[in-house]
Parts: sequence; C-alpha cells; structure tokens
Amino acid sequence: MHVYGIPFINSLRHITLILNARDSIVLIMVKLMKLTVINDNEPNPPLLNDWGWSVLIETDKWTLLYDADTEPRIMEHNINALSINLREVDAAFLSHYHADHYGGFRYIGEVKRGLIVYVPEEDRILAKWGLTPIIVNSPREILDDAAATGVMRGMGVNEHSLVVKLSNYGLVVIVGCSHPGIDNIVKRVHELFGNIYLVIGGFHEPSRRQIDAVAEYSKYVCPAHCSGNEAKDYVKAHYPGKYCEVKTGTRLNLPIT
Ligand SMILES: [Zn+2]
Ligand SMILES: [Zn+2]
Repeated sequence: MHVYGIPFINSLRHITLILNARDSIVLIMVKLMKLTVINDNEPNPPLLNDWGWSVLIETDKWTLLYDADTEPRIMEHNINALSINLREVDAAFLSHYHADHYGGFRYIGEVKRGLIVYVPEEDRILAKWGLTPIIVNSPREILDDAAATGVMRGMGVNEHSLVVKLSNYGLVVIVGCSHPGIDNIVKRVHELFGNIYLVIGGFHEPSRRQIDAVAEYSKYVCPAHCSGNEAKDYVKAHYPGKYCEVKTGTRLNLPIT
C-alpha cells in the first residue's frame, strides 16, 4: 500500500505526457476488483440490514472499507457472516458525516485500532473511536490507482467520492449519498479523471434527467442505498444493459464478464 502525497491530477497529467511521447506504454493499474456490500438498504436475510451503506473493496493491490453503515452490531454480524477478515483492510473511506455512513465505524475502531479513514472535512467522531482520520478536501490519489474526488457540497453536506482505475476498462466510482447530485459527481469525475466504467452507491432519489446523465457517462449503473425504487426501475427499464442490482451481501467481481 502506498499513501500518496502528490495530487492525483498532477500524476494523471504526467501520465498523459508519457502517453503522448510513447503510444504503446502500458500503465500498471488495478486489474481485478471485488466489491462486497456489507450493508445496503435492500435486505438479504439471513444477513442483517438497516438504512445504511457499507462496501468492502478488494483489489490486487489493496483492500479498503468504504463507509460503515449505521449500526456497529450490523457491521459486526455481516462482516463475520460474509467471512471478511478486517486484518486485511489497509484503509477506510468515509463519504460524508451522516450517521448512516459512519455509525458502524465504532465497531471498526474496536477491532482495527488506528486504521486510517479518509474523510471529507474536519473529524467529528472517528478519532474518539480510535481511528485515524485524514482529511482529503481536494482531488488526490490516496492509494495506488485510487483517488478521492475532492469535496463537493450539496444540500448543506460536504461529501467526496472514490474513484478507482480499473485496467483497460475505465473508472469505478463509489458514491455515498450523492448529496451534491449524482449527475454533478459523475461529470466531475469524467472531467478530472476520464472515462467511467461503473458507478455504484446511493444516488439520493435522483430525477430522470440525473439518471440519464449517469447513464451517458458510465457503462454500468448500480443504484443502491438511498437511490429509491423509482430510480432503480427507471434504470432497469431504460438502460437494461447498464443496470446492475445491489443489495446487502451482493458480491460484484470487476470487470463484469
Ligand atoms: Zn447523507
Ligand atoms: Zn446515506
């Protein structure tokens, strides 16, 4: 694992320069990626669930916990039931300071003391629970081939999202609740980082226009958490080839084959 100090955009610009100079250069990127949904609003017994969002992201380079649901006991139960080994988690990421995303970090702090958590603004609770919050407010690489979008503000909330470069396929974007607007997030990622392969997370009951924007920019669209059934049905009906279903316990191997 490498924690980067260089702004991601600068390294990307550098890569572009190399590409212009030598067409055939092969970039080393994340080749395989597995997402395991620890909790989503959509139930899947016998796993427990509630209103919240938490995903484990495993790659050939690192393992990261993205958000941590509302309830410590649900995190504990599902992590055990899904045979997740927290000892293998290198770092965590908090999309924003709402309890349905940070509540379960209380359990993570008990079992993985000192774990680094990339947060969008000044810490409110995680340090008290024994974790190590690191504020990332502008776009930058935080792990090999993974970057934070930088803070975007919407509905009075400071939120950031995670972008992972998947070799030969494009970017995988993981969002929390999309308070800044899922269309705005996707456009910003496209502008700053390039082509998007898949977007997953809470879209916050988006309008059809917002969903159309996501579908325009991304090969796969995976509405979860606070997206709402209307949004899911719209993607299913209008973009059946792009839709992927998410519920508690979903395991998604990327690239999709
Ligand atoms: Zn929220
Ligand atoms: Zn939420």
